[in-house]
Amino acid sequence: MIRIEDVISKVEANRPDPDVDLIRRAYLFSALHHRGQKRASGEPYLVHPLEVAGILADMRLDEVSVSTGLLHDVVEDTLVDLETLRSYFGDEVTNLVDGLTKIAHISNLSKEKQQAENVRKMVLAMITDVRVVLIKLADRLHNMRTMQYLKPEKRQRISQETLDIYAPIAHRLGMGKMRSELEDLAFRNLYPDEYKRLAHDVDARRPELEAALHRIQETIKMRLAENDVPFVSVEGRVKRLYSLWKKLKRQKITMDRVYDLIAARVITLNGRKNCYLALSVIHDTWTPVPERFKDWIAMPRDNLYQSLHTSVIGDGGQTFEVQIRTEEMHHIAEEGVAAHWKYKERKLGVRDDDESLDELRKTVEKLLLPLVEDNKADEDSEDFIESLKLDLFPKDVYAFTPMGKVIQLPRGSTPLDFAYAIHSEVGDTCTGSKINGRIVPLRTELQNGDVVEILTTANSKPSRDWLNYVVTAKARNRIRHWIADQQRAESIDIGRKLLEKESDRFHVSAKKLINNEAEMKRIANEYGLGRPDDLLASIGYGKTLPRNVLSKFLGAEKFAELDPEKRKETRIETGMKAVKRLIGLGEDAIVVKGVDNLLTTRARCCNPLRGEDIVGYISLGKGIVVHNKRCKNVAQLMVNRDRVVDVEWAKSGQNEIQSVRILVTTEDRTGMLAGITNAIAEIKTGIRDARANVSRDGRGVIVVTVEVFDKKHLDKVLSAIQQVTGVINVERVNA
Ligand code: MN
Repeated sequence: MIRIEDVISKVEANRPDPDVDLIRRAYLFSALHHRGQKRASGEPYLVHPLEVAGILADMRLDEVSVSTGLLHDVVEDTLVDLETLRSYFGDEVTNLVDGLTKIAHISNLSKEKQQAENVRKMVLAMITDVRVVLIKLADRLHNMRTMQYLKPEKRQRISQETLDIYAPIAHRLGMGKMRSELEDLAFRNLYPDEYKRLAHDVDARRPELEAALHRIQETIKMRLAENDVPFVSVEGRVKRLYSLWKKLKRQKITMDRVYDLIAARVITLNGRKNCYLALSVIHDTWTPVPERFKDWIAMPRDNLYQSLHTSVIGDGGQTFEVQIRTEEMHHIAEEGVAAHWKYKERKLGVRDDDESLDELRKTVEKLLLPLVEDNKADEDSEDFIESLKLDLFPKDVYAFTPMGKVIQLPRGSTPLDFAYAIHSEVGDTCTGSKINGRIVPLRTELQNGDVVEILTTANSKPSRDWLNYVVTAKARNRIRHWIADQQRAESIDIGRKLLEKESDRFHVSAKKLINNEAEMKRIANEYGLGRPDDLLASIGYGKTLPRNVLSKFLGAEKFAELDPEKRKETRIETGMKAVKRLIGLGEDAIVVKGVDNLLTTRARCCNPLRGEDIVGYISLGKGIVVHNKRCKNVAQLMVNRDRVVDVEWAKSGQNEIQSVRILVTTEDRTGMLAGITNAIAEIKTGIRDARANVSRDGRGVIVVTVEVFDKKHLDKVLSAIQQVTGVINVERVNA
C-alpha cells in the first residue's frame, strides 16, 4: 500500500518547490473523515484516495491536483460539505472536488447505455478546470484496478461506462497508457469469457512472439548503430488484448493476419530527422508492407499523437509493426495532455501554473470538443473551435433527472423549465424541487451537473408568477396557455351567472336558454362567435351584454313585452339586487365605454375619486372593478390585457358623495386638529372622522375622512388644509 510519504516524494521529485503542507493537510483531513470506512476489499477506505493521489503524482500533476486526489471522495462519501472544505482548503481545491462530486453523481445515475453520449457531453460541459478530468481518470483507473471485489453486475456497469466514456476521453487527450489500461481492465470485466479465451491464445504464442520480438529488437539496435542513427531505446510489445480483440472482431480475421500483433518501438534521440533516418534503416532491413506506412509526424493525429508507423515482413514471413518517434513524442503518446503540460513547464523553467493551466485548458478543449460534435471534427480551425465553444459552453446547462436522464436547457433555466422539459403535466403540477437532494425555490438557476428532482401534487396548478422564473419557450407557452384557459373558464362561469340573472329579470327560464345548444349557437354566430361557450365567455369578459343576448333569444316583440325596464315593478329592484349580490356593489357613477348598463365597483385598494383617471378590470365575482390608473395594482393587472376595459365617469350622478381619507403631518403643537377641521368646514365639506396622534419623531399625525364629490373638490380640501399654520404635509391615502 502506498504511503503519503511516497506520494510526497513523487511530487517533490517531479516538481519544483511544491506545497507539501497542503498535501499533508489534505491527507489528514481525508484520513479523519474517511476513518472507519472500508472498501469492498475490506481495506481501509483511505487506501483509495491515497492511490489516486499516487497516480496523479506519477502523472506529474501539481500539488493542488494531488491534494484533490486525497479529498476527492469526502463530499460524496462523508458528512463533509463543500463549505467546510472551502474553509479548510480554499476555492481551488474545493471547486475541483465539486466538479468531481458532480461527475460521481452522474455516473451513479446513468444506468442506461444510450445515455452515454449525453453523459460525455455533460462531463465535458462541466469541465471548468481540466484537472477535474485528469483526477477523475485517475480515480476511475484505481477503481478499475481493484474492481475484483465488486459484484459482477456492478463490475459490468462500471466497465461499460469506462469503455463508453472514460477510455474515449483518455484517448482524445492522448493519454495512451491510461486508455490502454482502462480498456483492458474493462474488457476483462465486461467479457470475461472472451477475455480468457483470447488471453489464453496469446499466452500460448507468447514465448514464440517474445523470442521474435527480442530478435527484432536486437537487429534494429545493431542496424541503427551501424548507420549512426542515435536512439534512446528499442522496445517491443505484444498487442494489447482489447485492441487485438476489436481488430479480430472488426476485420473477421485470425490472429496471424494481424499486421501489428507484435511491434517494435524505436525512441530516437535529437529531433524528428532521426526518425526518418531510422525508418530508412528499417525499410532497408525488411520489406515494408505496401500502404501500411503512416506518417503521424508530418501530420499529427488530432490528439497530439506523433509517430512513424510501418509494417514490415519479418524473416520467417511474420509481419510486425515498427513505431518510430522521439523521446518527447513518446511521452506525449503515453501521457497525452499531462505530458504536454509538463514539457511546456520545463521549457519555461519557471513556475507559472496559471498560464500553463490556461494553455492546457485550450488544448483540452480543442481535443475534447470533437467528441461532442463528432461530425464537425474535421474543421479544426481556431474560429470553428471558438464558435463551437461559445455555442456549447456558456449557453447550455446539462442537468439530470434522478434516473440519470440528461436534460439540456438554456443557461438561466430553473427547475420549472426542467419540469416542463420532462413533460407538460410535470410542469403543470410542479409544487417544489430538489437540487442535488436539497429543497430549493423554483426560481433557482440550474447549474451544470445538477440532479433535479421535481415534486408534484396531483391537483396543483401553474401560477402566473412562474412566467418570471422560466426561460424556455416550452415552459412559457404552456404556462401562458394555462392562464388563458383558466381565464376563459372563469369568464364562461361569470358569463353563465350573468345570463342566468338577466333571464330571471325577464322571467325567462335560464336553463331553457343556456341548455338549448342550437339556440345558443345561433346567437353566438350572430355575434361572430363559434360556440355557446364563446358566447358565455364574451358575456363574462363584459364584451357582450346579457340583455342583448336575451333580446336575440326572445325576438324584439317578446323582449319589449318582458323587459323589466319597461315595467315599474319592484321586481326590477329585486333583480338588480340579485345582480349586485352576484357581481358586487354596482355604481352608476362609472360607465364602461361603449357599453351601457354594465355594473362596476370601485377598487378598495385605491378607491378612485370622480375626476381621476380610471381603468376597469373584469374580475371574478366582482364584475368590473375600477381602479385609479396610478394604483400600484394596475400594472400587475395589465398583464392580463384581455380583462382590461376602458371606463369613464358617467355624465350623470354629479352629486354623488365619496369618502376619502387624508393624512396630514403637522408640527407638534396644540390646536392642530381643530385648525384643520375648521379649514375643512369652511369650504363646506363634510367630515366623517378625524383622529390625531403624535409620531415617534415628535410630529403630529392627523387622519381625516372627508366627504367629497370629485377630484376637483378633493384638491380644494387638500389645499385648504395645506394653508393651516403648522401643517407640514398633506396627502390622500388610498382605501
Ligand atoms: Mn473515488
